[in-house]
Amino acid sequence: MARYIGASCRLCRREGEKLFLKGERCYTDKCAIVRRAYAPGQHGQQRKKMSEYGLQLREKQKARRFYGILESQFKKYFEMAASRKGITGENLLQILESRLDNVVYRLGLATSRAEARQLVRHGHFTVNGKKVNIPSYLLQAGDVVAVRDKSKNSPKFKSLQETSRGRLIPKWLEFDAENLVGKVVTLPAREDIDLPIREHLIVEFYSK
Ligand code: SF4
Repeated sequence: MARYIGASCRLCRREGEKLFLKGERCYTDKCAIVRRAYAPGQHGQQRKKMSEYGLQLREKQKARRFYGILESQFKKYFEMAASRKGITGENLLQILESRLDNVVYRLGLATSRAEARQLVRHGHFTVNGKKVNIPSYLLQAGDVVAVRDKSKNSPKFKSLQETSRGRLIPKWLEFDAENLVGKVVTLPAREDIDLPIREHLIVEFYSK
């Protein structure tokens, strides 16, 4: 499965805001957005007036980068969202949030979506009791995500059992920190998704 392997901080600098792609480092003053809050490249410090198309493109790229998804997959999600009932932009965000790697991250079982993706790939999780190692697996309301029994003894998950009690979990999820088991109570509504994405611009981008 293809993924972006370039410098993560460069993506944040291009979008002009923190995308939280590197886990703990993003919360420190080592963050590249704190140190160099301008776009990368030779002309990064020049001020440019953005066209309407440019705004739509940047919003789409930002959403894609938040979730670590390549263009072709993102477009498929858009088509899926457009074919569902309701508001396309909100459907799109709901689909992105329901990916297994995102839910693992939201449950606090990984420090970034990239780490969550790797943990899923390495087979550390079950969904409804069955091992699933596909980061893009789309969860439904009622699905139960758990750390596999044999993974619970690894130092990573042992320390999570200690530290994740009392962690703030989005209200559309439930988490049992002692057993490292999470549940999708319901799929998230727009107000449950705290990312600064203007989804109507993404819809406009693809509707041209
Ligand atoms: Fe983005 Fe994190 Fe790098 Fe900061 S440290 S620029 S938030 S990936």
